[in-house]
Amino acid sequence: MTAPRLEVDLDKIHHNARTLVQRLGERGIQVLGITKATLGSPEIARALIRAGVVGLGDSRIENIRAMRRAGVQASMSLIRSPMISQAEQVVTYSDMSFNTELDVIRELSSAAQAARVTHGIVLMVELGDLREGIMPEHLEGTVREALRLPNIRVDGIGSNLACRSGVAPDDRNMAELSELAESIERTLELQLALISGGNSGNLQWALATADVGRINHLRLGESVLLGCDPIDREPIEGLCTDAVTLVAEVIETKTKPSRPWGDIGQSAFGTRIPVVNRGPIVQSILALGHQDTDPAGLEPPPGIDVIGASSDHLIVSCGDHRLRPGDELRLRPNYSALVRAMTSPFVSKVMKGGEVGSASTVGEELSGKCVVQGPPG
Ligand SMILES: *Cc1c(COP(=O)(O)O)cnc(C)c1O
Repeated sequence: MTAPRLEVDLDKIHHNARTLVQRLGERGIQVLGITKATLGSPEIARALIRAGVVGLGDSRIENIRAMRRAGVQASMSLIRSPMISQAEQVVTYSDMSFNTELDVIRELSSAAQAARVTHGIVLMVELGDLREGIMPEHLEGTVREALRLPNIRVDGIGSNLACRSGVAPDDRNMAELSELAESIERTLELQLALISGGNSGNLQWALATADVGRINHLRLGESVLLGCDPIDREPIEGLCTDAVTLVAEVIETKTKPSRPWGDIGQSAFGTRIPVVNRGPIVQSILALGHQDTDPAGLEPPPGIDVIGASSDHLIVSCGDHRLRPGDELRLRPNYSALVRAMTSPFVSKVMKGGEVGSASTVGEELSGKCVVQGPPG
C-alpha cells in the first residue's frame, strides 16, 4: 500500500460521535459534527450523520461544496465568519453560517436574495477567548439589525472558547451566554432556536455541570476524531483514541553518533536542535516530513522516539526495534498533525469500515482501549 497514508477507522469515528450525541442528548444538547480537519471527506461526513449529529459544520466553504458534490445529505453550516468575496458560494452551498460582522451579513442577504434562498445565521459572542465574536454589549443591536435584512433568518447565538487563548468554558461564561439569549428574546420578542455553547473544549463543562442553562448545541470536531479533550488532551472516557493512524515508510536505518559534528548553524526549519550526546544510536528515517504533517504532533509506538524532522524526512531513534527500509511505522497524530496530513496531497487517505450494519467490529475489543458497537439498527 502507498505511504505515507492516513488510515481512518470509520466505525471508531461513528462510535465516538454516537457516544457524544447520546451523552449530550440526555442533557438536551445537540451536536453539530465538525468536518474541517477532514478536508470534506464524504465517508467521515456520512459516519457522523449516521451517528445522529444534527448537521455538519466546516470552516471552509470549499469543503462544504465538496461534501455536497459527493452527495452528502445534511444541513451544512459554515462555522468561520464568511469572507465577503465568497458570499455567493456561502448562500449556495451552506444552509447557515456563523457571523460577527453586519457588513458580511448584508452581503449574505443580497446574495441570498439573488439566489432566492433564505440563509440562516448564528451570531457569535465574545466571551473572553478573544478570537471571533461580537462584544456582548453590542449583541442586541446586531441581532436587531440582522432581523431587518431580507432573506436572512436569525437562528441563534453562540460562542467559541478554548481556541486562541485557551479560556475554559465554565458555569460563569456559559451562564452569560444563556442570559444574553434570554435578554434578547425578551427585548426583541423572538425565540432563538440555537444557543451554541462551543467546541470540544466545552465537553467537560457540558457533561458535568448541574445546569446547562439555555445551551442546546455544541460543535464537535477533535473529540469525535481523536477521542480526546482539547482542554487537557486527555482521553475521553469510553471513546476511541485510535480512530486515525498515520503510516510512514522507512527509507534508511543506520547506526550513527547521536551528536552532529562540524560547525553548527541553524537547521532547515530555523531551529537550533539541542545537542545531546548519547553515544551511537540506531536511527531510522521515514519518508514523512513537514510537507506531510506536523512532526511535533506525532506519537510513535513505545520504545521509538521522534528525534528530528525536515520537509521530507522524519528521524526516529529505534531503541531495540529493528526497522528496515520498506518497513512501515504507525504513528498517532494529534489534532495539528491530523489536519496537516489530511490536507497534504502527499498523504493518501484509506477509509476502513463505515458500512451501515457492518457487524465485524461489534463488541470486539480494539487495542484493549475501547469497544466499538455497530451502528444502531
Ligand atoms: C474548529 C471549530 C470547532 C470545533 O472545534 P473542536 O475543538 O475540533 O471540537 C467549533 N466551532 C468553531 C467556530 C471552530 O472554529
